[in-house]
Amino acid sequence: MDLKKYIADVPDYPEKGIVFRDISPLMADGAAYSFATNEIVKYAKDKGVEMIVGPEARGFIVGCPVAYELGIGFAPARKKGKLPRETIEVTYGLEYGEDTLQIHQDAIKPGQKVLVCDDLLATGGTIAATIELIEKLGGEVVGTAFLVELKDLYGRDRIKGYDVLALMEF
Ligand code: IMP
Repeated sequence: MDLKKYIADVPDYPEKGIVFRDISPLMADGAAYSFATNEIVKYAKDKGVEMIVGPEARGFIVGCPVAYELGIGFAPARKKGKLPRETIEVTYGLEYGEDTLQIHQDAIKPGQKVLVCDDLLATGGTIAATIELIEKLGGEVVGTAFLVELKDLYGRDRIKGYDVLALMEF
């Protein structure tokens, strides 16, 4: 399936000169959303994944259906102040500024094989921070999966040594 036709290009968003890749048409199409989810499910099965983690907010959209399909758990990595119980945190630089991500301290069991899911890989700051959170809790990141990779921002270089599945490249 040609997934690229379900990505909307939005020029000058959120800032002039940036082309935002909007995944909402893909989510809105049942066949495309299901196809994309199943591609990540196959990848996760190959990797023996036991737990999915996704960063707020579109990481939930990509990761949760994968976890549901596999019958495994999902843990959210959230912006500072959103999680109600004890957390650990990492502060990181992103394409448009700086942010802090937190995860519940008991979200991952030591040694658990974890797949990180997000909608899009840009500079890799978000995914690197999410990986750091998982590893602080003793989890083993066995792969990362994205709908879209923006090749010219070199996110893969930021997470060298980790396997990357990207369903589309721009
Ligand atoms: P990175 O941290 O620079 O790799 O940026 C990736 C994060 O920013 C992801 O969580 C994305 O949801 C978001 N993001 C950055 N650029 C875009 C875009 O063009 N479309 C959708 N999300 C984006």
